[in-house]
Amino acid sequence: MSGFVTLLGAGPGNIELLTLLGKRRLEHADVVIYDHLVNPDLLSYAPSNADFLYVGKKPYQKHISQDEINDLMRVQAGAGKKVVRLKAGDPFVFGRGGEEGQYLREHRVEFEIVPGLTSAITGLAAAGIPITHRDYASSFHILTAHQTRSQPLNWDSIAQMEGTLVFLMGVGELHTIVTELLKRGKAATTPVAIIQWATQWRQNTGIGTLLDIEAIVKRQHLGSPALIVIGGVVNLSQQLSSHRALERKHILMPFSKHTQTHDLLADAGASIDFFNLGDQQSRDVELPDFNQSGRLVITNLRAFEYLQQQMMQVGLDQRALSGWQLLATNNLIKERLQQRGVLIDHVIDLANLNATDWVVGEQNDLSTLSFDDSNVDRKLITYTDVFKRQSISAPDTFDAVVVTSKRACLALVHGLESDQLKQIKTVPAFTLGDKLATFLSDNGFQSVTNVGSLAQMVSRVKEVIKND
Ligand code: SAH
Repeated sequence: MSGFVTLLGAGPGNIELLTLLGKRRLEHADVVIYDHLVNPDLLSYAPSNADFLYVGKKPYQKHISQDEINDLMRVQAGAGKKVVRLKAGDPFVFGRGGEEGQYLREHRVEFEIVPGLTSAITGLAAAGIPITHRDYASSFHILTAHQTRSQPLNWDSIAQMEGTLVFLMGVGELHTIVTELLKRGKAATTPVAIIQWATQWRQNTGIGTLLDIEAIVKRQHLGSPALIVIGGVVNLSQQLSSHRALERKHILMPFSKHTQTHDLLADAGASIDFFNLGDQQSRDVELPDFNQSGRLVITNLRAFEYLQQQMMQVGLDQRALSGWQLLATNNLIKERLQQRGVLIDHVIDLANLNATDWVVGEQNDLSTLSFDDSNVDRKLITYTDVFKRQSISAPDTFDAVVVTSKRACLALVHGLESDQLKQIKTVPAFTLGDKLATFLSDNGFQSVTNVGSLAQMVSRVKEVIKND
């Protein structure tokens, strides 16, 4: 079988700005080859057993050359793998995606292009700058300030352009850009914006004019990667940028393909980065005899799903439980099961089990539970959480950490590198329910807020981190 390469545009950084097709390709990747501008959180969409190959710049190490990247794609695809070549923004905008495609065609490697949102347009929007506007600009020009000897920039024609100018890879060349444009008669009052790390938590925008932008860059410590935007549209930034309750607050939470908590925080403007929840390994259990009636205590939803899967393997569906009482250990499990058409008879505390109850759950959760009066193991341990050692980027930059499940708390405490964990414990933590709050406090988190309910999440986070 021959492999396949997807030249995939990752968008400007915020992981929700990936396309649906891009997400689907990542979900089925065998190998992901990615650059330094790509947000590493995107890798969480790929299967955890995929190979992740970083080909960006590394401090103090030799840069991986384009030839080596090309070879890597060809060899991996040649081994029959589905290769995703993940590139910042759009692969065909100053990303050498064209060259990579040409190389693959030449070597008869099958490939496709999946477009991405280019920073050259969306990066401006993230700072409230519309790239065109009826009153200010009816065209735009995307340029690289990185001059190559074969293609020097034609400053005469650039200075004549009426539309918005957007320079990529240009911060190092800002002085040249400003000087050349002024020399050719562009007004010194022409508005200029520098947008660094657009759409990401560290987005930093400097706004000025051709005359003072260099001083502003120095003052605000602006650097690469950034967009340089020149033109009247820059003046709209103040009016059009958003100021939501948690605008660009940097929040750490577990990666999950879809959670309500994530959406609430993201919609309030927070920039979210993730830690990994690790993997779940299912375990075979000896099923009870469902013909006898009994009580089944469900300690977590996932465990019950694994139980259902095992029942299905022997031809049993929900009807097998018709003579059973079903209990849950909290209301959330009860509600979720109800949404799936399973009614819970009672909510019960694990401390109040009957001697003949069956309990379904995760291994670590049930490890301290014992039934010493019986030779039947009535603990149905249908899976085990496996926490991965992991490191997150920039642990000293978070404004809040939000963990709303036991699994997430454990993944943080057992998975994170110890230095990083120490740092994260000083960040205000937010959770749901007394038990998790106590767990976090007992594990050394210095400021823990039990938010009470999801509906309160945004306002509580805002309140606490404002006073922090
Ligand atoms: N293919 C990419 C561009 C790659 S060239 C795209 O379509 O966006 C690399 C340059 O892109 C950087 O030097 C910077 O100028 C710009 N860039 C990419 N992502 C950016 C971001 N999130 N914020 C600001 N500039 C970015």
